[in-house]
Amino acid sequence: MTMTLPFDNSYARLPERFFARLDPAPVRAPALLALNRDLALRLGLDPDALATPEGVAMLSGNAVPAGAAPLAQAYAGHQFGGWVPTLGDGRAVLLGEIVAPDGARFDLQLKGAGQTPFSRRGDGRAWLGPVLREYLVSEAMAAFGVPTTRALAAVATGEVVVRDAMGRPGAVLTRVAASHIRVGTFQYFAARGDTEALSLLADQVIARHYPEAQGPLELLRAVVAAQARLIAAWMALGFIHGVMNTDNMAVSGETIDYGPCAFMDAYHPSTVFSSIDQYGRYAYANQPQIAVWNLAQLATCLLPLMGDRDAAIEAATAAVNEFVPLYQTEWLARFGRKIGLAAATPEDQPLIESLLCRMASERADFTRSFRGLVTGTARAEFAEPLAFDTWAPDWQARLAREADPQAVMAAANPVRIPRNHRVEEAIAAAVEGELAPFTRLSAALADPFAADPALADLEAAPRPHEIVHRTFC
Ligand code: AMP
Ligand code: MG
Ligand code: MG
Repeated sequence: MTMTLPFDNSYARLPERFFARLDPAPVRAPALLALNRDLALRLGLDPDALATPEGVAMLSGNAVPAGAAPLAQAYAGHQFGGWVPTLGDGRAVLLGEIVAPDGARFDLQLKGAGQTPFSRRGDGRAWLGPVLREYLVSEAMAAFGVPTTRALAAVATGEVVVRDAMGRPGAVLTRVAASHIRVGTFQYFAARGDTEALSLLADQVIARHYPEAQGPLELLRAVVAAQARLIAAWMALGFIHGVMNTDNMAVSGETIDYGPCAFMDAYHPSTVFSSIDQYGRYAYANQPQIAVWNLAQLATCLLPLMGDRDAAIEAATAAVNEFVPLYQTEWLARFGRKIGLAAATPEDQPLIESLLCRMASERADFTRSFRGLVTGTARAEFAEPLAFDTWAPDWQARLAREADPQAVMAAANPVRIPRNHRVEEAIAAAVEGELAPFTRLSAALADPFAADPALADLEAAPRPHEIVHRTFC
């Protein structure tokens, strides 16, 4: 029995040079680790059916559902600023696009589905650690209300994957996305001078994500605006993506490709976690300017579709430069709400920056300090509480002009984030066959704004010996 899903595969209808068609490679002994029942229902899928052996066969790549058109997408990208003309899905297979009951279209992709023509020297597989990490962090991101790819399921493969000379349990993540089209997808065709493909790709992105956009310039402007909103949302959560290569930036405006990403504990703008980010290119505070750099690459790709070259360059440059005011406006709105201001104005910016400056010098925990503004416990987060006490009077004076600052702050400042040490703890337990910590953390992150004494351990900052300094992908 194969499963029947409501597929309509628009990407698979593009010319063959957009992808390589192939089925996922079967795995030895698939076992369901996690199933996102709410997301299944959102997609119009039956969660109970997904949990049956037939469902798990599909979620592991052992059975291809009827109506699927499996393929690995071609793309290129700048990795840490270095150009790579051919990347592509080296360990992921797009099963197809599901049309949900409300008409919304979602990619269904298996990550860790085996080798593809884009695997280069890689094994095409994923291990449990990154799969559970992406599951937890992407679902937390969704619960925060930030655009993101989602995790429908995680399946253990019963196979061993070798990483750093260590054998680790293999796993497959079922990822759901508005699409998997990246800045790097445009770069792949632009680098080959394939204007016809660029035009088809732009048409597909407009149809799927920006139906109001009339042509490539408006498409670019829409992507710029979506990224400005997205990066501001990351900043307001203390989130560091870690690998903002152009192949890891989705044109839909969703957060994608959770690798060595992390939420900061103690606040500092230069924070970096990723073990592969040697020079801090993708540090917390660099993220907006890296986004602009990536968007400039997208703009360059779109030039051949924009008519007269000089006029196109001028218009595209202006479009990319729109990022700055859009981002600043969004940043101010978000950080304003974090300190209780329903509609912060530029005059409020120094108050916010002064708090952040004090948090950085006093190693204040990002999440707990902002949440502590709601509960009156913020000062205890500062190594020297006086740094908070000397800021608070100006803040209180400003709050006197607000209608309901408590409610505004409570809705803007989560109680719980996927803390690195808790994520690592959950992964370590899962490797030993104990899923309870993962399941508990996953459930706790589904409702991250509601304090719960039973979850105090997940709300606490790491003790010194618990701090995770480096994350790996
Ligand atoms: P990422 O760092 O996940 O954005 O991946 C960068 C590129 O490396 C993409 O083309 C991936 O498909 C590819 N890749 C990463 N890990 C593997 C793997 N284990 N096997 C094959 N390709 C991989
Ligand atoms: Mg092909
Ligand atoms: Mg990637």
